[in-house]
Amino acid sequence: MRVLTLTALALFASSALAAQNPPRAPEPPAPDPRIHAIVAAVSADRIRETVTRLVGFGTRHTLSDTVSDSRGIGAARRWVKAEFERISTACGGCLEVLYVSDTVGPTPRIPLRTLVVSVLAIQRGTSDTSRHVLMSGDIDSRIGDGMNATDSAPGANDNASGLAGTLEAARVLTRHRFNGTIVYAALSAEEQGLNGGQIVARYAQAHGWRITGVLNNDMIGNVQGIDGQTDATTARVFSDGTPPTETEQERTRRRSTGGEVDGISRQLARYVDRTADRYVPGLDVWMIYRLDRFGRGGHHRPFADLGYPAVRIMETHENYNRQHQNIRVENGVAYGDVLEGVDFGYAAKITALNAATLAGLSWAPAPPRTVRLGGAGQPAAVLTWAAPEDSANVAGYRVYWRRTDAPTWESSRDVGNVARHTFSGNIVDNYFFGVAAVARDGNESVVVFPGTDR
Ligand SMILES: [Zn+2]
Repeated sequence: MRVLTLTALALFASSALAAQNPPRAPEPPAPDPRIHAIVAAVSADRIRETVTRLVGFGTRHTLSDTVSDSRGIGAARRWVKAEFERISTACGGCLEVLYVSDTVGPTPRIPLRTLVVSVLAIQRGTSDTSRHVLMSGDIDSRIGDGMNATDSAPGANDNASGLAGTLEAARVLTRHRFNGTIVYAALSAEEQGLNGGQIVARYAQAHGWRITGVLNNDMIGNVQGIDGQTDATTARVFSDGTPPTETEQERTRRRSTGGEVDGISRQLARYVDRTADRYVPGLDVWMIYRLDRFGRGGHHRPFADLGYPAVRIMETHENYNRQHQNIRVENGVAYGDVLEGVDFGYAAKITALNAATLAGLSWAPAPPRTVRLGGAGQPAAVLTWAAPEDSANVAGYRVYWRRTDAPTWESSRDVGNVARHTFSGNIVDNYFFGVAAVARDGNESVVVFPGTDR
């Protein structure tokens, strides 16, 4: 979504909204030239090379060959691990590269006990190492028959594109050091039941990761939609309105104070949206107020299921002739998820959006804690909070507000390094409020909506 320009704001302020309090205020400028450089460094050519390489494994079906060096899921995951190790060598060993695996089955789509293997590359933060952000794509592919593990299943867009974007983000971001930890995840068995994501999400939980964002990329290269539209200038970001881990008590409180479109994943989606506006030319985010595509699944879900903020990032116009299809021509229509269906410039833009978001979140402080709102029955809204874990990185806090029917934060105000802000002369009911922590370099955390942090 695009924010209003200053001129538009001035016009608004002088007319209909002039009487509103608190008034609208302009967006702060994009603060960090390093993030512009990161966006510019993402290479469509390298993404094309990576997708071509992944397609070259013939099939990456979860139940395919694991022994061959040239064909099947085993060869593919070994290549991904070697590629992360090569990236790590180029940055002086800045990545820890590991397999995270577990045996799965029998399940409806994994009939025999099968080792499901994902690959993680971890870029440790310098000051707040237990805080993690993740970017993910998938290793595995499929065709029409989801159990066919031998026929050609190139999965160029679904989902070599998302994995190639994840590898490219690692190449670009490992030229920098960050306060928080960044994890690049190549997940397996997405098509067989989100098994790789479940295994990695449990691994993160078992290792006590504080996760402030999961950016799952699944199909980021198709620009010719089945709906007849060609569009390389927008991307979709899917998110839950509220987390499924919400307790009965939290749900009851939310009914009393509001917040059904302000859960942690939705705030992350808004952060991605604003990052596109600030840093990525020619790409506008279309937030979709759903966990995922209608009735479908993706690898952000296992993280959301455990209560982590997680979104799915993808193309706006899908083409079902190019997903999960046997390669063929039927009645003059070409089917199949082949290389020719991927627009690498578009995939690079979505990758740049991911990289900018990961950089912003990882240079920023952690989000403020125990954010609470008071003010019922008073002519003031009172926002209180506590400093995050890495308070030394906090220069100050930025409070946000918007009309309750607005999709994105409309206005903000820098309030200094304090733990409380009073919006005086304001009826608390009429706006939603939130607060973000801001670093000295201007990067800021996700906005925290009162009552959504534990
Ligand atoms: Zn798929």
